[in-house]
Amino acid sequence: MIDHQLIDTYAREISEEKQTSVISGSAASTDKRYTVLFKDYENPDELRKLAGKIKDHTLHHLDSYLEQAEVSLQRNGVQVHFADTGDDAKATILSILKDRGISKLTKSKSMAAEEIHLNPYLIEHGIECLESDLGEFIIQLDDDVPSHIVRPIIHKNRREIARTFQREGIAADYNDDPETITRRARVFLREKYMQAEAVITGGNFISAESGRLVLVTNEGNSRFGMAPSKVHIALVGIEKLVPTDKDLAVFLNLLGRSATGQQLTVYTEFISGPKDTSQPSGPEEMHVVFLNNGRTDVLESNCREILRCIRCSACQNVCPVYRQASGHAYRATYGGPVGAVLSPLLAGKEFPELADLPKASSLCGACNEVCPVDIPIPDLLLRLRDKAKREKIHSPGAPPMSPFATLATTPSLWRTAMTMSKAMNHLPIQVAPVKPLQEWLGQRTLPEWHGGDFRKWFNSRSNKSKQS
Ligand code: SF4
Repeated sequence: MIDHQLIDTYAREISEEKQTSVISGSAASTDKRYTVLFKDYENPDELRKLAGKIKDHTLHHLDSYLEQAEVSLQRNGVQVHFADTGDDAKATILSILKDRGISKLTKSKSMAAEEIHLNPYLIEHGIECLESDLGEFIIQLDDDVPSHIVRPIIHKNRREIARTFQREGIAADYNDDPETITRRARVFLREKYMQAEAVITGGNFISAESGRLVLVTNEGNSRFGMAPSKVHIALVGIEKLVPTDKDLAVFLNLLGRSATGQQLTVYTEFISGPKDTSQPSGPEEMHVVFLNNGRTDVLESNCREILRCIRCSACQNVCPVYRQASGHAYRATYGGPVGAVLSPLLAGKEFPELADLPKASSLCGACNEVCPVDIPIPDLLLRLRDKAKREKIHSPGAPPMSPFATLATTPSLWRTAMTMSKAMNHLPIQVAPVKPLQEWLGQRTLPEWHGGDFRKWFNSRSNKSKQS
C-alpha cells in the first residue's frame, strides 16, 4: 500500500455531493471577488501591498500598539483582559459570566472562540451558549465543525439543512427552500436573543488610536445579540490591531471584496464601548479579551507574515487542494492555505501532528495572488517544510529527497547518472516489482530521457566560440 498524505485520504473519501458544494461555493466567491475588485480599482495590487505594509508595521510594533489600544479601550469604558493561553481566555470569560450570574448568551461568529473551543467549555460549566450566525447555528445543531472561515457550512447543501431543522424541531416539516429555512431560523433565534443576558463576539479589527472595535457581518446577528444583552465580551486575537481609524478604510475595502465579493458587508459596526445613558438599549458593560495563544511565538518565528491575515478566506476559495478535500481535511480550526501555515504554528508542541499540512500544496501561488494583505503563503509553506525536515518529522506520502540531494550536489555522480539515464528508456521499469513505483507510474507516462545532451551541446558551443 502506498503511504498517502492525510489530505489525499480525505479528498478520496469525501462524498461527491460535499465536494460539489465546496467546489461550486468556492468558485462563485472567487469569481465575484475578481469582478468587484477589478471593477472598482485600476490597480488592486497596489492596495493589497499597502495593506500588507500596514499590517507588517503593526506587527513590528505590536507591543506598543497593544499598550496604546489598552489605554484607548479603557478610555472608552471597556475592561481589557490579556489571555496568554486558550485556557486563560476561557477562564476569564467564565468568571465574567459567573460573577454576574449569567447563564444564557448568544454568540456571534468568532474564529478565535473556535480555536480555543469556547462553546463546549461554557456549556460544560452550565452556560447556555447559542450560535447566532446562521451557518454556525446549523453547525451547532449538527455537532459539526466549520469547514470554511467565512462560509462555515460550505460543505452542506440545503437538503441536509432542512433535514437538520426537522430533526431538531426548529421546523415542523421538511422544507428545503432557502428562504423558508432562513425565516424559520430567524423566528427561532429572535426569541433566543431576547432571553440572552450576554453576547460574545469576535472582532475583525481594533483601532489602537481610538479603541474602536469593528465587527463585520452580513446577517446583523451581532447587532441583534447586543441590543438586549447587558454584557458584551469580545474575544480578539492580538494580531487584529491596526494603528489608526484611517487604516480601517483600507482593510474594510479589501475584506468584503476578498471574502464574499461585496464592496462592503451588509453590517459594519464600529463599537466604542458600552452604551451611554442617552442610548435606550445595548450592553452596559463591555470587555475585550486579547488572545495570545501562541501568536507571540509565531511573531518570533520566520513565518510571522501569517499574522497579517484578516481571515477573508480568498486563499481557501482559490486553492485547488482545499476545493478537492474541503476544510475538515486540515483537522484544525483554520483550513486551506492560511490554515496550512497557521494551524501547525499555533499547535506549538503539537507541531508534528500538523506538520503534513504545508506539504499538501502544489505551490501554485494562487493563494499569494489573491491575498489582500500580500502574505507570501508559498514561501511560508516552504519554511515550514524545512522546519519539519530539520525536526525529522515523518511525513506520509512524501518521497525521500535525500538521494536526489546527494546526486544534485555531487557533480561527478550527477554526470555519470545523466549519461547512464539514457539506459532508462530501454528498461521495463513499469513492471519492476516495487508497488509504490508501479502505482506512481500507473498515473503518469515518463518522458524520454535525454540525459547529458545539454553538457555536450554547451561544450561544443564553447569550443566553437573559442575557434572563431
Ligand atoms: S491568508 Fe490572506 S487570503 Fe488567506 S484568509 Fe488570510 S488574508 Fe485572506
